[in-house]
Amino acid sequence: EAETGAAFRAGYVALAGRPNVGKSTLLNALVGEYLSIVTPLPQTTRQQVAGILTTESYQIVFLDAPGLLEPGYALQEAMRWAALRAIEDADLVAYLIDAGRPASPADPEVLEALADLSTPVLMTITKSDKVESGTAARLEGRLRDLGYDTLTISALTGAGLDEFREWLVARLPESPALFPSDQIGVQPLRFFAEEFIREACMELFREEVPYSIASRVEEFREGREPVYIRATIYVQRQSQKGIVIGRGGGSIKRVGELARRKIEELLGEGVYLDLRVKVMAGWPRKRRQLEHLGFRLPPESRSGQTGV
Ligand code: GDP
Ligand code: MG
Repeated sequence: EAETGAAFRAGYVALAGRPNVGKSTLLNALVGEYLSIVTPLPQTTRQQVAGILTTESYQIVFLDAPGLLEPGYALQEAMRWAALRAIEDADLVAYLIDAGRPASPADPEVLEALADLSTPVLMTITKSDKVESGTAARLEGRLRDLGYDTLTISALTGAGLDEFREWLVARLPESPALFPSDQIGVQPLRFFAEEFIREACMELFREEVPYSIASRVEEFREGREPVYIRATIYVQRQSQKGIVIGRGGGSIKRVGELARRKIEELLGEGVYLDLRVKVMAGWPRKRRQLEHLGFRLPPESRSGQTGV
């Protein structure tokens, strides 16, 4: 009814952009919960992660996705596909550009795809805390000249986030909420457990193995205290298995502690995390193994069948 004010709005917003521009950090800042893992390493995010922001007047489902890159092998193909699906599924796209590295501000292929979809795009200059205000303003000017709406934000300090949300809400379709108002995520808890385990490995073994790691929850028993989670960390080589386990099991113990704390925070319950390490040679190039690890591959994809 008109008397009750504006109608409720709801929809999907994709956070797109090159690796490391701060998509996952922004998702977490917007939702106010640590859902999408963040490391200083590019290509941290491998699958689509959704985070839900609900207020009295709107609900935004933010879709974080891997950065857009030319795929070299099956894992990267799965990653690129997840990114493109997020853009296709979205009512609106926020295309993120790192204020500190604007050399190639936007991927021409993505802009073409976006033009085809006619999805409204907000060119969002991120990490404003890292640069002088003039730098971001010049970049905004260039993007406006190209006909884009633009805003400058910092996920770290929160600068510009109110305007960012306002821009999106004004363009969301009128719709009832898509998810219950207290729901913040879409993936099952076991997905987040897998991500926090992988993140702990990326943090602890930053030099040696970050891109060779995958994790999979084999058993997740709720309804008991502590919650019991049994998971496997996959590596590509025997030598990496040694690194992850560490002398006397010291490293795997640290992985377990780091990951367990984050899982407990999200669950709000105590967790017993039972970890083991296995070698799965060449998994990033192998379709069937990627599927076992929970990745979705584009149906027409052929790579992995001929891969090493
Ligand atoms: P993604 O690959 O696009 O998801 O990027 P991430 O969210 O993983 O962030 C990559 C790196 O940029 C991490 O080290 C973040 O801490 C950092 N970062 C993200 N947002 C900001 C920001 O607003 N300001 C600053 N200074 N660093 C940021
Ligand atoms: Mg990310």
